Amino acid sequence: MSDDFKNNLELALGNAKRLSNKILINGKLSPAKAEAKISVLNPSTGENIGEAPQCNKVDVNIAVDAAEAAFQKWKKVPARERGKIMTAAARKLEDRKNEIETLLALDTGNALRTQAIPETAASIELTHMFAGLAGEIKGENYPPNIPNTIHYTTKDPIGVVCAIIPWNAPLFLTVAKIAPAIVAGNTVVLKTAEQAPLCALLLCEILQQELPPGVLNVISGYGEECGEPLIDHPKVRKVTFTGSFSVGKIIAIKAAPKLCPVTLELGGKNPNIIMSDADLDIAIPGVIDGMRYTRQGQACTAGSRVYIHEKIYDKVLEGVVSKLSKLKMGNALDSKSDIGAIISNEQLKRTLHYMDIAKKTSSAKVLHGGNQPKGGDYKEGFFYEPTLLSGVPVESPVCQEEVFGPVACAIPFKSFDEVMKSANDTPFGLSAVLWTQNLSRALQFVDEIEAGFVQVNQCVAPRANVSYGGIKMSGLGKEYAFDSMINHFTQSKTVLINRGKSNL
Ligand code: NAD
Repeated sequence: MSDDFKNNLELALGNAKRLSNKILINGKLSPAKAEAKISVLNPSTGENIGEAPQCNKVDVNIAVDAAEAAFQKWKKVPARERGKIMTAAARKLEDRKNEIETLLALDTGNALRTQAIPETAASIELTHMFAGLAGEIKGENYPPNIPNTIHYTTKDPIGVVCAIIPWNAPLFLTVAKIAPAIVAGNTVVLKTAEQAPLCALLLCEILQQELPPGVLNVISGYGEECGEPLIDHPKVRKVTFTGSFSVGKIIAIKAAPKLCPVTLELGGKNPNIIMSDADLDIAIPGVIDGMRYTRQGQACTAGSRVYIHEKIYDKVLEGVVSKLSKLKMGNALDSKSDIGAIISNEQLKRTLHYMDIAKKTSSAKVLHGGNQPKGGDYKEGFFYEPTLLSGVPVESPVCQEEVFGPVACAIPFKSFDEVMKSANDTPFGLSAVLWTQNLSRALQFVDEIEAGFVQVNQCVAPRANVSYGGIKMSGLGKEYAFDSMINHFTQSKTVLINRGKSNL
């Protein structure tokens, strides 16, 4: 173990221990009322690193009460002042970024160098971005159609926001919800994901140091026991959720009786299409980046359906396999690792289930990966090799359902029309990528593809400055960017004023 690796591990374990069994209520880390605990494991070793309170309705009520009391004051703080406070909070994140990124790697199994460091940096940038937009929150003036009157709208905060996040990008998704909500004048109760609760708690603990008590509260626990009472709480006035389609649907149904507005960022089964005229120097690494192999495929935008034109099929596969074989998998806190561990044994079993289906398909071939390394450096960690399959029928569950693991399917195609039909033949519509040097093809793709996040000749993760979200069964509403702050975290008031008789 190198000195760096050892130091990173010690730092992360120290914070995990400090934050174990804590929630954040009214500006303070405190134990929960619920006695039950959830064991938090290091995905890279399978070892216990702490516990998270298994909060229930009692803790939910305490958290919402704290957020509601804070809201009555926070909504009156001028928007620019709220922005300045959030900027100060973002600076605190910068000061402690090493602590945040190491705990992120420990908590999620996402490799420090390739994932945890960039996610921490992007989360800080996003916090700064929303802080800087505070002064832009404004309504509109309308020319009145009644004489001697004034007509305008205001953009007011909504109230207590319930934010529920998954485990795969717990920092970025936390900030994407809480920063615009708080800058817009709302207060928040965040429910972390049971698999990776500690790094989001650390991030919020640091942010909360600059915020008035109760503006940001964090609880942990399971969906039914903790998430549902939070959504049901009468004082919760807005729900923002990122996670699976199946849970997103439950959340929309739960929020409906009180007409609580809901934003849903859900899963996908995303096409990555390589045309015969693509620049293969960028498209081949683009298959690996697009599949988010260095995040173990655990990204909603993972391009797991890799459509390759038949003329270049063999060449692309050869290039991808050669590059995949150079990626080093290992402990997330070892900065030599390109790829870390899958979040949990349960999630590993999900990958194994889809691989079983693929291995039973007579036409399927494993071009790379397909194994679960165990023992040695891998200890009892949840590792699975980055895997590329060919010959899996497009109608197989492996090509149709979100694996959310490191498994992609290569699918040959003959024509643009054929590939577009197949790419759109899914209930999901999250992201899609096309590689071509033909501009009119690219624009036709943009017109015809059924996805909310579309890229041509690149496949980066969603950008903070541009709004992002899925269509079809992949989501409802857009996050990030200024739009999310205005559209999802403010409510409009229409004001008509009779000026009265003029004294002049
Ligand atoms: P999940 O839906 O199982 O859980 C997400 C969160 O919801 C967790 O905090 C969980 O405790 C909570 N939850 C579960 N049941 C609940 C209920 N009945 N009521 C309230 N809360 C409940 O998802 P996951 O396995 O944590 O994450 C993976 C999924 O997230 C994938 O489908 C992935 O595509 C999706 N995702 C989407 C985006 C996006 O931006 N579109 C980003 C990241 C992840």
